[in-house]
Amino acid sequence: MVGGVITKDEMEAVYTQRMAKKGAPGRDIYDKLISAPAQGRCPLCAQRLVTTLDHHLPKAHYPALAVAPLNLVPSCADCNKAKLDIAPRAATDVPLHPYFDDIDQERWLYAEVIKTRPAALRFYVDAPNTWDVVLQRRVRTHFKTLGLARLYATEAAEELFNIHHYLGDIHAATGTDAVRSHLQERAASCRHSRRNGWRTAAYDAWAASDWFCGGGFM
Ligand SMILES: [Zn+2]
Repeated sequence: MVGGVITKDEMEAVYTQRMAKKGAPGRDIYDKLISAPAQGRCPLCAQRLVTTLDHHLPKAHYPALAVAPLNLVPSCADCNKAKLDIAPRAATDVPLHPYFDDIDQERWLYAEVIKTRPAALRFYVDAPNTWDVVLQRRVRTHFKTLGLARLYATEAAEELFNIHHYLGDIHAATGTDAVRSHLQERAASCRHSRRNGWRTAAYDAWAASDWFCGGGFM
């Protein structure tokens, strides 16, 4: 029950029937929220396209928040599904809110090169130890729940597939250090746009690996 007078199902129906449904009175609010993010990217994974609204705190467990705009976060279908109905039991389980938990002032996403052919990357979270422990845990939970390690590793593999020929040209013409410089410049440019973007972490990791710069990229 919500406020002792409305049932959970009734409150969910307000969202589904009066807001999310095409032509519903609240549909313009729904549309505004869903089209808010720049570049149309899901703010939870920063990669896939926004296709829905995610209930930051699930409506099944927090029906009073079913139509609260601040509880409605534009999201891709995969992130929405991964988060579906997870009811936080402890402070460390509360999902990150992309607008209120401003975690991009500092770096927390990193990657390391795995020496395979083709080279792979392992993405991981290393939150600043100046953050309180709860926030550090929440970022790790966010990363794990949404399966971001796998998503980013897949995207990075595609990126490498697209640039390895060019890196080969640089290596053949001017050597390992030139490859490293090129990757460092790319990392700096990516960091300027997204401090914790997967490309920033990927280019940093590639530039930091002597094995990679020396031909591991092929
Ligand atoms: Zn997403």
